[in-house]
Amino acid sequence: MAVPRAPCRIGDALCDIDTPALLVDLDKLEENLKTMPITLEKYSNLKLRPHAKSHKCPTLARLQVAHGAVGVCVQKLTEAEAMVNGGVSDVLVTNEIVTRSKLRRLMSLARHATVSIVADSLQNVRDLSEAARQMGVHIGVLVDVNVGMPRCGVLPGPEVVELASLINSLPNLTFKGLHCYQGANQHIRKAEERAGATAEAVEKAATALKALEDAKIKCDYVTGGGTGTYMYEASSGVFTEVQPGSYVFMDADYGRNFGEDGQPVHQFHQSLYVLATVQSVPEGNRAVVDAGLKAISMDSGVPLHLFLPFIHPILPQVYPDSDIVYHCGGDEHGVLVPPGTYKIGDQVWLIPGHCDPTVNLYDWLVGVRGGRVEAMWPITGRGPGV
Ligand code: PLP
Ligand code: MN
Repeated sequence: MAVPRAPCRIGDALCDIDTPALLVDLDKLEENLKTMPITLEKYSNLKLRPHAKSHKCPTLARLQVAHGAVGVCVQKLTEAEAMVNGGVSDVLVTNEIVTRSKLRRLMSLARHATVSIVADSLQNVRDLSEAARQMGVHIGVLVDVNVGMPRCGVLPGPEVVELASLINSLPNLTFKGLHCYQGANQHIRKAEERAGATAEAVEKAATALKALEDAKIKCDYVTGGGTGTYMYEASSGVFTEVQPGSYVFMDADYGRNFGEDGQPVHQFHQSLYVLATVQSVPEGNRAVVDAGLKAISMDSGVPLHLFLPFIHPILPQVYPDSDIVYHCGGDEHGVLVPPGTYKIGDQVWLIPGHCDPTVNLYDWLVGVRGGRVEAMWPITGRGPGV
């Protein structure tokens, strides 16, 4: 397969990067990687399994493992393949995979790494067993529990027991635990409300555990929690593993969350940017940049404009220049109003509204430090997840 065109080369100055490009500030990324395990130090036996859906990049996943992660979560089979092919030895698929060809691909990964997956139907469990048997592998299966977000997952109660019993009774499968992720809680703005909502999810997870205990089914693994709530799952005494993803990059949406101290969340730093170029300054009242819908996801709002990173103190967290507002100009354009001092050819730094779907648009993550390109990491798990 042809290698996708890279926007720059290692050693390039920032001004030589072709745009739009996805940049990561390596100093900030490294701080985030180090901070996460420190925040969990006080919870002995609690495991960190970051979600790789945020970066889809095996190089970054390996860095997370080097910083104490037991492995990663993925959402799509293509991400699982990217991770295993990229040297990650323990991958949990936190999503249902149901078709025959995909089940075969999943089982072939289990020949090279520890692979586990969630399931929420008897049919899917039977299919998983049959596929694993045919491929001569053994995999762990977690019951996907609906702990308050009406997406996949069975309600905590008899269905959990039924599924766990079936998993244990079928060849080539082992019942591994419970997957209890509540995504809607992550972006509740106020810390006390986020804590309260997470307590409800924890209670549902505890109900599912109790149902298993009553049925004498052993379960010592409960996983869930994202960047917004993982500290509450971690301290719950119910969860044994957390799966934050966005903390490596952060985004404008997470920048709108408030922490326990009433301040915008600041233990993790904004490290991800889309670099764009001013291509036009029509009528002197706006600056048009080369990054629109195809370069930045806008499902969680427009990107924030950042003024002079690396010179400007970007602390404690997102430090946007609120005078200049980005407006979506369609597929290929962004319109900055007012144009400030921008002239044609100037580079513009944008903080994506939502990191995961923005990353998904790029082939390369460009690592920058001290005004130079230091690393180029392929985002091999990108795409719709075929
Ligand atoms: N776990 C699951 C199952 C998810 O779907 C997600 C994100 O959507 C995460 C963990 C990570 O969440 P975040 O990126 O907000 O940390
Ligand atoms: Mn997300």
